[in-house]
Amino acid sequence: MKLFNSMSRTKEEFVPITPGEVKMYSCGPTVYNYFHVGNARPFIIFDLLRRYFEYRGYKVTFVQNFTDIDDKVIGKANDEGVTYDVIAERYIKEYFTDAQGLGIAPATFHPRATDTMDAILDIVQRLLDKGHAYIAANGDVYFRTKTFPEYGKLSHQPLEDLQAGARISVGELKEDPMDFAVWKAAKPGEPAWDTPWGTKGRPGWHIECSAMANKYLGATIDIHSGGLDLTFPHHENEIAQSECANGCTFANYWLHNGFLTIDNQKMSKSAGNFFMVRDAAQAFGYETIRMFMLSAHYRTPLNYSEESLKMNKTSLERLYESRNNLEFRISKASGDTMTAEESEKLAALGGHKERFIAAMDDDLNTADALSAVFELVRDINAYTGAHQDATKAFLSAAHTLFMELAGVLNLVQQREDAGIDAEVEELIAKRAAAKKNKDFAEADRIRDYLLNEKGIAIKDTRQGTQWSRV
Ligand code: AMP
Ligand code: ZN
Repeated sequence: MKLFNSMSRTKEEFVPITPGEVKMYSCGPTVYNYFHVGNARPFIIFDLLRRYFEYRGYKVTFVQNFTDIDDKVIGKANDEGVTYDVIAERYIKEYFTDAQGLGIAPATFHPRATDTMDAILDIVQRLLDKGHAYIAANGDVYFRTKTFPEYGKLSHQPLEDLQAGARISVGELKEDPMDFAVWKAAKPGEPAWDTPWGTKGRPGWHIECSAMANKYLGATIDIHSGGLDLTFPHHENEIAQSECANGCTFANYWLHNGFLTIDNQKMSKSAGNFFMVRDAAQAFGYETIRMFMLSAHYRTPLNYSEESLKMNKTSLERLYESRNNLEFRISKASGDTMTAEESEKLAALGGHKERFIAAMDDDLNTADALSAVFELVRDINAYTGAHQDATKAFLSAAHTLFMELAGVLNLVQQREDAGIDAEVEELIAKRAAAKKNKDFAEADRIRDYLLNEKGIAIKDTRQGTQWSRV
């Protein structure tokens, strides 16, 4: 499998540290609000990467943090007159609601900064002991950037350029403008933690990820991921801290998703041009958002528009319709062994699976993988349409193949419009009996009742009457 490594700026063959295992870390949300569709991109993509590794037989340990203490969380808590943990708890819960809707599985570990204080204090202390960090007069602890000559290697910026752009903000007591806070001294009224070095306070954002990756995955991890905007300074700072504290490479592969845009501008809370996942889901459905996200390769910009979401909703409906048609045919068909022609056809359909895997192996090209699924479905529909006597064995095998690939993308997994509802089945049987008795008025009455009262459309096929929700 090839992955584009931001460090080398090339697609590289993925070679895990331990054969058959993957240790991944992805930067998670700051929990002071619902997350927007832009934030959803890394959450969906890197969960999918984990899912795909598992499909290929790897054992994956996946860590995604919650930043539950920072200026924004404290600010929101002050606005509401509650403590920071009330805000964090609320939006962590809301994160899981949206994540589940979007088909994102929980990570192996979801550490919170405030629950990882031991590991944070430990790494800060190690940096202090080695002279990579220092305690400023106001109690802040800063990373001494010039002690890490490789600083800038991920964002490919020479140190001199970074130096020229660096500033010291009001209230900061840095030795050098390039230095950054790993620990912030307590301010009156803010939550604070005791430290072995004596200055009570709270962790900086960057140190949290270094500490958590170290605690849950070890000193060197396989993959570190996040949005493109995190490359500098966040990931650069994580690298400096982790590599100075541990004396080894922090992550072998750095993956960054491109921006989700709106009117071709990055969607962001600060710019105000965002849609919460919660609201977008209300309008289009969670699964449509997932489909939309997978419709482009993760490194390309992806523009959010009503038109695009509607198109994806229609595409998704096509997949559901094909699945439901297949399931209906399976329920009516017989024949436990495929004909020779069917066996040949099934082997040909396997070509779509090969293309699907080749696309996913090529730096997780979900756009091409989705095309392979659509081609598979088109071929299945064409064949089953032309072969009304297709065996149950063939229909089931085609269904299994389709669901395997859709399952890797975690699409078409909802059951609500499939399956046979007893009441509907009974009415359909009554309608069939009415038609047989030439009581067409009664047959039409049942059809209208199903449509208007139950939201169910029926279609007469050669295998019998098929129904679907409208
Ligand atoms: P935040 O909660 O702002 O730290 O963001 C959480 C994740 O969302 C990070 O990995 C960000 O890089 C990512 N992110 C934020 N905005 C966008 C966007 N417009 N497009 C893609 N990823 C984004
Ligand atoms: Zn991080």
